Amino acid sequence: MSKPAVILLSGGLDSATTGAIARADGFELHALSFDYGQRHRCELDAARRVGESLGVRRHVTLEIDLRKFGTSALTAAIDVPKGRSDEQMGTGIPITYVPARNTVFLSLALAYAETLSAADLFIGVNAVDYSGYPDCRPEYIAAFERMANLATKAGVEGTLAFKIHTPLVHWSKAEIIREGTRLGVDFGLTRSCYDPDASGAACGGCDSCSLRLKGFAEAGLADPAPYRT
Ligand SMILES: [Zn+2]
Repeated sequence: MSKPAVILLSGGLDSATTGAIARADGFELHALSFDYGQRHRCELDAARRVGESLGVRRHVTLEIDLRKFGTSALTAAIDVPKGRSDEQMGTGIPITYVPARNTVFLSLALAYAETLSAADLFIGVNAVDYSGYPDCRPEYIAAFERMANLATKAGVEGTLAFKIHTPLVHWSKAEIIREGTRLGVDFGLTRSCYDPDASGAACGGCDSCSLRLKGFAEAGLADPAPYRT
């Protein structure tokens, strides 16, 4: 019998590839997604499609309305920056940062995992192509893992040793795309754009689109996701 694991699925290509890696490692996947009031609602549909394609045992979507706090371009009515250079994208913490998002998400993933008696959690954070997010760094993940084992009944009693898997953390976007392709990920199901139109077509100019398109170009592959023309 395969071991259960909780995988955070956002609908983007990083979490889809992370899920494919977890599946290839033999885990039974329990997916968790968040309806946190993000403006780009199509990513929740993408997360659902990605979960189905990965054959997840169960897919839970939790509603946590982070809009009640405000302040991020991903949740509030603030313009998403477009056409930034690699240098601009590599400097500082971007406006698309959502306060403490991965801590909120991982805490709920931990609660789900303890409920399932699952020691393994997978999250598609990446510290290479887009290092501006403090909660995507390896030292943050290591601290969360330590906390998880201090904060839970299963951790304290020693019935589970929680492990936060971040298989993509040191990979470039092109490496993620190549590995996902090798594992059969259908990137046409994934969505990354911070500012898609009503049909879900990507803008092609936000930081997330720029990194995605650069990754596909470097991998020598075409991006099958829809873009506005
Ligand atoms: Zn975009």
